[in-house]
Amino acid sequence: MGKGVSLKCTKCNYKKEHHLGVGMIIHAMLLKDYIDLNLPMHNKTKEKIKRLYYKKENLIIEPIIKLYKCKECNKIYNKYYFEIYNNPEYEYSNEGLEPIFKTEFKCWRCNLELKEINLEKLNKAVCPKCGNYSFNKDALFLWD
Ligand SMILES: [Zn+2]
Ligand SMILES: [Zn+2]
Repeated sequence: MGKGVSLKCTKCNYKKEHHLGVGMIIHAMLLKDYIDLNLPMHNKTKEKIKRLYYKKENLIIEPIIKLYKCKECNKIYNKYYFEIYNNPEYEYSNEGLEPIFKTEFKCWRCNLELKEINLEKLNKAVCPKCGNYSFNKDALFLWD
């Protein structure tokens, strides 16, 4: 089950829903299966994880969809964050293991590292349509 948030601009009424967390398709799995799904991923990241995969077969990926905001320009990003674990037991529990890879995201405008948004406090993001700092949380919902 995942969480979702819908955002609404108080200036131009533009609305957008973001689905976050994990669901039917997005959950922990073997890295090679995840690569086969062909989900959106930065090309550089894809190259890196493919190289990891060629070295070791027992890699587990734990993807989770998150919402980020740039501290500088308040732009919102909806991203597939993931961690990769070397888990030779093939168990889908990575508790106690350190990830061998985790994604980091940067704002394409400011080149600053993006921080995950606290959904409860989400407001005054920049509206993708009108560009005002008036893009606020409208409602939270659950999905799967
Ligand atoms: Zn920025
Ligand atoms: Zn707007």
